[in-house]
Amino acid sequence: MTGADSTEGKPVQMETWRQSILEQLADLSAHGLRRGLRRIDSAQGAYVTVAGRRLCCLCSNNYLGLANHPKVLAAVKAAIDRWGWGAGASPLVSGHMAPHAELEARIAAFKGTAAALVCSTGYQANLAALRALASHDDIVLIDKLNHASIIDAARGSGALLRVFPHRDYAKLERLLDGAAGCRRRIIVTDTLFSMDGDFADLPRLVELKRRFDAILIVDEAHATGIFGEHGRGLAEQMHVEDGIDLTVGTLSKALGGIGGFLAGPAEVIDLIVNTAGAFIYTTALPPAACAAASAALDLVEAEPSRRQRLLALAGELRDDLSAGLGLDLDENNSQIIPVIVGDAKEAVRLSQALEESGFLIPAIRPPTVPRGRSRLRISLSADHDKADLARLVDLLKSLP
Ligand code: PMP
Repeated sequence: MTGADSTEGKPVQMETWRQSILEQLADLSAHGLRRGLRRIDSAQGAYVTVAGRRLCCLCSNNYLGLANHPKVLAAVKAAIDRWGWGAGASPLVSGHMAPHAELEARIAAFKGTAAALVCSTGYQANLAALRALASHDDIVLIDKLNHASIIDAARGSGALLRVFPHRDYAKLERLLDGAAGCRRRIIVTDTLFSMDGDFADLPRLVELKRRFDAILIVDEAHATGIFGEHGRGLAEQMHVEDGIDLTVGTLSKALGGIGGFLAGPAEVIDLIVNTAGAFIYTTALPPAACAAASAALDLVEAEPSRRQRLLALAGELRDDLSAGLGLDLDENNSQIIPVIVGDAKEAVRLSQALEESGFLIPAIRPPTVPRGRSRLRISLSADHDKADLARLVDLLKSLP
């Protein structure tokens, strides 16, 4: 045993396991990888209050500004009055209430699928989908930059897992070709990659999945509500919705609330309801969260100007950052803009300098992104002000 603690004034030796935890944390600090929770003292929006200061918030996934929209708030308040707060049980027991059923019908209509299922979070939606669909006789093929929830879901499914380099579909093709003996070949990809802001090539993936009789699952977490004429996501924008077997989405980003969803064929949803522990063994969302998501979907349908403004702001900022800082950004426009710094400590230094000048853009470091690829991940909302973005570009240009 090493180290010391004190109980009631008596010095005691610290247990070895606690000492090892302190060493682990010290190691993270030494490499610039220690993270901590930051307290926000205001509602979410283009500006937030941190330690008494008003900062321009350029790191939230509240892309359409719906987390604090009056119509969403009114729907939540009305739902609490009508349905109370908690769902009280898991969905298969007695937690599946009218607002859950109505939201599922609403999502299925929005996505044009036979069925939909509401889950507690987007993370759980990925777990539920892959744990239900994949098992020992199957192969799951995922992009290296897919979200952690997809990787966790695939790892725990028992299926053979193959990771292909980011957007390397020639490699994916070879992997599919070599997996003819598997019961199911399952391809999973983010559509808009959460840390890089670039797109999967969905037409290519649909072509491959058809050729190899594979299942194609797409995670539209960052694209729902933003891309496509009706805001249904990148599959809509790329005109391949009929080639997608299952969509994973979240109610927590553009839709501004909490929860996840799956949309696809009735038998797939039925299998998930029957076999996915991540869906079965957790309490259903509060009904008011479902009412909030329904109100947010109303706004997505009624106000396309929100997503149009968001993407216009993103396009301008991308142009200004490319011209001003020589950033090599993906040719596709999205509201997620990575400023790759490389070294984790350097990314933290820049983030702190930005914060001192009024911008909240935390450094994103490993394990969220690969080693040597630490970055400032700028994410925009439709409520941002052009003058703030111009100031940000000037600041980034001038920072040592
Ligand atoms: N998928 C992707 C691609 C994500 O980026 C995220 C959240 N960062 C999730 C799923 C999980 O969604 P939620 O926050 O609703 O759990």
